[in-house]
Amino acid sequence: MELLNIDFYRRHSEDLNRTNLRSLQFFSYANLIGAALNLLAQSLISKAVVASSVILLVYALLLFLVVRFFIPKDFKYATIAIYLSMVFPMGITLINGTVLDPEHNAFAFMLYIIAMPPMIMDYPLRPVAFTAAWGILLAFLSYEVKITRIFHGDAVHVLQAMALSIALILIVIDARIRDVVNIAAARSVSEHDELTAVKNRISYVKERQKFLGRRIILAYFDMDNMKLFNDFYGHQLGDEIMRRFAGILIDCFGDENLYRIGGDEFIVARSDISEARFKEKVLDCQNKLAHIRIENYDVHPTVSCGYTLDIARTLEELQDMARLADIRSYYAKQKQKEKIIGGYFDREMVDPKNIELEVERNATASRIDELTGLENMTYFMVHAEEAIQSLMDPDRHKVFLYFNIMHLKKFNEEFGYVEGDNLLKRMAEVLRIYFPNCPTARFAEDHYVVLDYRDGCEEKVERVATLMKTWKEHYPIEIKCGFYEYRGGDEVSLSCDHAKHACDSIKEEPGKFLCEYDTSFEAQLWRKHYVIDHLDDAIAQGNIQVYYQAIFGSVSNKLCNEEALVRWIDPSLGRMRPDNFIPILEKNRLTWKMDLAVVDEVIRGFDERKRVGMNLLPISVNLSRYDFENCDMVKEITDRMDAAGLPHNLMVIEITETAFTENQTRLQREIKRFHEAGFQVWMDDFGSGYSSLNLMRQFEFDMIKLDMDFVTDMDEKSLVIIKQIVNLARQLGIGTIAEGVETQEQAQALRDAGCEKMQGYYFSKPNSLEYIIGRAEQGVGLPFEDPAQSQYYELVGKVDLQNPLVHGMETAEGISMSSVATGVMEFSKDGNYVLRANERYASFAKEAGFVSKDVADIVGAKFEGVPNVHFQAAAKRAIETGDWEQVPEEVEGQIYVSAFLHAVATNPVTGATALLILVMSMSKESRKHILDEALKS
Ligand code: C2E
Ligand code: CA
Ligand code: CA
Repeated sequence: MELLNIDFYRRHSEDLNRTNLRSLQFFSYANLIGAALNLLAQSLISKAVVASSVILLVYALLLFLVVRFFIPKDFKYATIAIYLSMVFPMGITLINGTVLDPEHNAFAFMLYIIAMPPMIMDYPLRPVAFTAAWGILLAFLSYEVKITRIFHGDAVHVLQAMALSIALILIVIDARIRDVVNIAAARSVSEHDELTAVKNRISYVKERQKFLGRRIILAYFDMDNMKLFNDFYGHQLGDEIMRRFAGILIDCFGDENLYRIGGDEFIVARSDISEARFKEKVLDCQNKLAHIRIENYDVHPTVSCGYTLDIARTLEELQDMARLADIRSYYAKQKQKEKIIGGYFDREMVDPKNIELEVERNATASRIDELTGLENMTYFMVHAEEAIQSLMDPDRHKVFLYFNIMHLKKFNEEFGYVEGDNLLKRMAEVLRIYFPNCPTARFAEDHYVVLDYRDGCEEKVERVATLMKTWKEHYPIEIKCGFYEYRGGDEVSLSCDHAKHACDSIKEEPGKFLCEYDTSFEAQLWRKHYVIDHLDDAIAQGNIQVYYQAIFGSVSNKLCNEEALVRWIDPSLGRMRPDNFIPILEKNRLTWKMDLAVVDEVIRGFDERKRVGMNLLPISVNLSRYDFENCDMVKEITDRMDAAGLPHNLMVIEITETAFTENQTRLQREIKRFHEAGFQVWMDDFGSGYSSLNLMRQFEFDMIKLDMDFVTDMDEKSLVIIKQIVNLARQLGIGTIAEGVETQEQAQALRDAGCEKMQGYYFSKPNSLEYIIGRAEQGVGLPFEDPAQSQYYELVGKVDLQNPLVHGMETAEGISMSSVATGVMEFSKDGNYVLRANERYASFAKEAGFVSKDVADIVGAKFEGVPNVHFQAAAKRAIETGDWEQVPEEVEGQIYVSAFLHAVATNPVTGATALLILVMSMSKESRKHILDEALKS
């Protein structure tokens, strides 16, 4: 029974007090009127009690004035006051009706007893006890002073009045208490939030002036990502999270100054605790919130808190404090841990940021990628976190998969942006097919991220890759995927980064589409930053050094060029190979700095060499394609050579083949400028790219360097290709050089194929300048070509021994030359030497007894004896005419020899002449017979 439940009255004490205050006011009016009427009546009926009526009236007037003018609107003791206010008139009327007037019944007093209950709203037993006490007092006084008949009358009346009074009390209180409760409830609904029962924005607005004029901490709590929680778990659970959070806030801060002012925003105002204590409490709240369990889910909501600490004098100031707290809570959101930001009021911060804030908020509010309908990055981050913590099986391994569609830019250029968008949508579709129910997002452009279990994911990725490959007819779409296995405690964003690194690491590896992250990626990443940050220092401190690798002439078998190869000698990392830092510098367009440092170092090297009296040979430097983007390399290098007083032909420019696929016109122009300035330009790594042959036509090179791979895995097939390239280049007037030569066999085969220059460990490894100068000073340096004779050797080297007739010479048509012994001989005053020889020629020379050397090292061997007169005459003619000349069939000892001769070149220094010799027959039979045989085949 609620009516007699004391707690109920306590709970509503404020409302009851307010009601009683109104009663007090009403009573003070009614009492005044009543006292005036009483005086009038008394003066007409019984003159004896007029005095007491006057006193009553004075009292009523006083009460009225006090209530009217001195009792404040929020008077807290109205209930007691109304009881007390009745004591005096009831006492007066009691004495009036008994001691002073024993002849009559105490009617006025009875009236008060009956009139009192509707006035007082209180726990019913109290007014009942109050009434009863007065009743007993009246009965006692009547018994003492009145004659028996009157006393009996009073006793009956008092019993009636009390019964009536108690009935009234019960009826009136019951009825009115409902009113009070209803009013309170209605007000509570409008001032409290239905979901959490915390006060709402309306109450905040109503109550906030109480925060004015004192030091307060005004804090904004903003739940992070409530929207997303609602999406993952449904609104019921979202509501429950809200309720739990409100509960946690009440636990920590009480509900007196706590308001829910928006969907997921709460305000707390406290003036009674220190800032440090407040922060402690906030962290406590955040901790409690991070580990709540609802139904079967462990949920991990986070909340951000911003607060302002100050004394607000006006409502505007208070509003600004609140706004600043709001802004700070927004910035706290960006933090991962200790999501709390606050401090003193700083007016500067309030206004300008406001708009910016709104904009940012709206941006993060959307969570779907419009093009593909997948999640966007922000959404994915939360979704993945929740999935890992609560939705996925904790015992299975999970992976973040990072997908990248390769060459989207090229695709867009070829098919247009609409088709490009279709490709992106298709990718999203395919991911949904193979990774249903997995958090899946498009991060940017053509990057996608999926969270899935590890087992089976590799096959799924493979299927995605195959499906995408065939999407467009005749245009395979390439997908790369890197993945990272999640370990407990990892941050989602970091896990995505790891997966991305794994994905990036296979960008350049054709055919490879899947790669797992491993810790070396971190080292790589670290090195990347290190390289970029330390390049300038490394140059300034001389840590960028140059090693020189010898390039040999294949005919002279002597050093004819060198290549400058950069080395980064780092004080903490040791010696770094170019592969470790050049790609990084290229990506960041910084190679030009390093390459110019190399040029400087090469020039310094020339000075050193001159100083110790060494011969200067051309040295090639490697330029990156990006060098031209940031710097006028032609001018920079020309200026440096000129400043050092060095002829330009001492520096050769090597540019790698892949450079030529982009921005061709610029490179064509730069190469032309290099040529005009007198520098040679070589194409490096020829054959490593896609359209190498075309490049030979489009660009003007002096030489092409065959890609090392041709030499490294040289077999029959690659030899055929090498020969074809060498021939083709020769016809275009371009020289060839082979690099990566490691064995004698390779050197021999390349020499036979007509490569003019060779480079590789077989000849020499790259060495420091110190080492090279040291060797030279000890007299054990590499033998080098006289630059004046270089051209002579180059021409000799170019001769194709397998197919000598293509070298601009008239052919003896129809003769298959592969079976012919071919060689180049040098004829000079001090003897005749073998410069080049194919296998047949070598064995011919040996069998005929001209040389004693074996086939393998016939090059450089001196011919024994002197050629006969016929041969000498034919050689003379060949040099004069520049044509093929025939040596008639001759008996050389016991052997018939028939040969053709052609001049190749004359050495400007020694005056020696190189002659190409085709030995058509070498037998004991007649030459005619041999020729007939040859013609038949
Ligand atoms: P590259 O220009 O093709 O240089 C040839 C590379 O092959 C050098 O490696 C060299 O040491 C190595 N090598 C030489 N002979 C042999 C051999 O017989 N067998 C094998 N297996 N390797 C051999 P390095 O010095 O590590 O240079 C690597 C690449 O770095 C160079 O390739 C070049 O593209 C680039 N590079 C080197 N120095 C510079 C530079 O100063 N500027 C620029 N932009 N790039 C440079
Ligand atoms: Ca090179
Ligand atoms: Ca190369």
